[in-house]
Amino acid sequence: MSDGKINVQAENIFPIIKKFLYSDQEIFLRELVSNAVDACSKIKTLGSLGQSEVSEDSLQVEVMIDKPAKTITIKDSGIGMTSEEVEKYIAQIAFSGAEEFVEKYKDQAQGIIGHFGLGFYSAFMVADKVEVVSKSYKDADAVRWVCEGNPEYQMEKAEKADRGTEIILHISDDAHAFLEDGKIRELLNKYCQFLPIPIKFGTKEEPIEGEKDKKKTVDNIINNPSPAWTKTPSSLEDADYKSFYNELYPMTFEDPLFHIHLNVDYPFNLTGVLYFPKLKGKLELQKNKIQLYSNQVYVTDSVEGIVPEFLTLLHGVIDSPDIPLNVSRSYLQSDSNVKKISSHISKKVADKLEELYKNSKEDFEKKWEDIQVFIEYGMLTDEKFAERALKFLLVKNTKGEHTKFDEYLEKIKASQTDKDGNTIILYTNDATKHYSAIEAAKNRNYDVVVFDTPTSSHFIGLLEQKNEKVKFTRIDADTVDKLIAKDEEIPSKLSDKEKEALKPVIEKVINKEQFTVMFEPMSENDQPASITQPEFMRRMKEMSALGGGGMMGAGNLPDSYNLIINENHPIVGRMLSEKDDSKKEEIAQQITDLALVANDLLKGEQLTNFLKRSVSLIDKI
Ligand code: ADP
Repeated sequence: MSDGKINVQAENIFPIIKKFLYSDQEIFLRELVSNAVDACSKIKTLGSLGQSEVSEDSLQVEVMIDKPAKTITIKDSGIGMTSEEVEKYIAQIAFSGAEEFVEKYKDQAQGIIGHFGLGFYSAFMVADKVEVVSKSYKDADAVRWVCEGNPEYQMEKAEKADRGTEIILHISDDAHAFLEDGKIRELLNKYCQFLPIPIKFGTKEEPIEGEKDKKKTVDNIINNPSPAWTKTPSSLEDADYKSFYNELYPMTFEDPLFHIHLNVDYPFNLTGVLYFPKLKGKLELQKNKIQLYSNQVYVTDSVEGIVPEFLTLLHGVIDSPDIPLNVSRSYLQSDSNVKKISSHISKKVADKLEELYKNSKEDFEKKWEDIQVFIEYGMLTDEKFAERALKFLLVKNTKGEHTKFDEYLEKIKASQTDKDGNTIILYTNDATKHYSAIEAAKNRNYDVVVFDTPTSSHFIGLLEQKNEKVKFTRIDADTVDKLIAKDEEIPSKLSDKEKEALKPVIEKVINKEQFTVMFEPMSENDQPASITQPEFMRRMKEMSALGGGGMMGAGNLPDSYNLIINENHPIVGRMLSEKDDSKKEEIAQQITDLALVANDLLKGEQLTNFLKRSVSLIDKI
């Protein structure tokens, strides 16, 4: 037996570790189990090099709880340690590392969020005494090392027949929650689900094949040691990717739309599988679904700063030993490796989308509604992605036809270019609401596309910026003749004087604050009155509501509309010549109410009055 003193100056290092990392207490299990897994991987490597005799089946890590004794044991059949190695790796290096750590962070207890590779000594976050019993693969005596959370430790020869290490944690009173099976199972599922060596936690009953009603007791292995992302893409079928998705998200019942298998070994190491999820609602943009692993050890599911912002909407796994995990988040975001990884993932995603589009247009079009919002968001936030995405950016018209954006511009050029040479893309965000305006546009041989995602107004701005001489106009922004300004003019049946006489009649029956009355010569077949909402003001409002564009406060302005009176409609002519003022007003009221109804703007008392009036008009038939 030999006693020793750990090589640190700070005697009170353990209380400090505990206090600092209280919120991350649970990661002791991740650290100790991954050490055990590493020890198994090391002996496996030695076995494959012929330096040791190893049967692969014997490699296992086991986690055990002894509630009465208040211990948790992590046992492995790995490489083991000789007494010199325990001294060197556990007693000295680990604790001097702890000292360095505390030195570095003692002034910023609040600032520490991320995760730390606390290694072995994270055991002291939950234990007041730790025992290490180990037998090395080398021909040496087994060793027992005991430390009670202060720099003093004991080391002695131990009885241990099999190769490997047992870490016995004597759980402290304030950490007794970890002695519950349920808690440990939850943590193993979270951190160890895809570790590369089988991890046993208790046993379970399994039916015996061919023997009805009979069961056998087998090891309960909690992990899948070879998850999809560690395999080569060519060895996997679609169904394998789907079942891996279910394994990752057992509570998500919808299948993903498609996957991207990442496999990079230069200039950094990165593997992973990303999934495009099916969105349930356009606004359900759920982040933090991607899980980050380092050599199959779970690290975090908040990946901001590591993957491009818009890809945080994807699901799946990224595994890279090159991402520095043991540092704070702000460091991570400025790390050049991380930046490279981020732009690489963005490129991979663009390549995959292009490939999907090229290989199967029809399938891509079917998925368009679900991926549109990712692509818009990506183009808005990632310049390089925006360039790449032009190869597969689609627009969908109100008939449900999809066309690649650049081809669409060509297609509408002849009929939808205005007198100044701008190609006007007409769009709607709600085809039902804009039904009549869309019909009117169709009668002019115009095409109308649908832009209805939360990012659409920003996105339209981006496309206008990137494409000179292309303008977007929402279908209700003007009357159909004026949506695309042409040179031809429709003659009017009203003189300026007559319009002046009619204006106050109309203004009397509507809210002047909200509606500006205007006159336009239109076709006799168009409605007598219609409502438009000027593109510019509406877009400012939308963008300011989304936050951005520098138009502070515009979101609070009331909606303002134009009420357009069709100068050529016979009813307008009749209204003008009507001698009886109350009848004149009644006509004005009815035609403006009709325009309001068509735009879903007539509400409450006004709507009730309109209905009553309409019923009494039926009486006059
Ligand atoms: P790290 O794992 O980051 O190197 P740790 O403090 O966790 O730091 O461990 C220090 C060293 O102790 C490890 O590198 C390894 O050599 C040794 N070690 C820890 N746990 C085991 C184990 N279960 N079996 C064999 N060696 C171990």
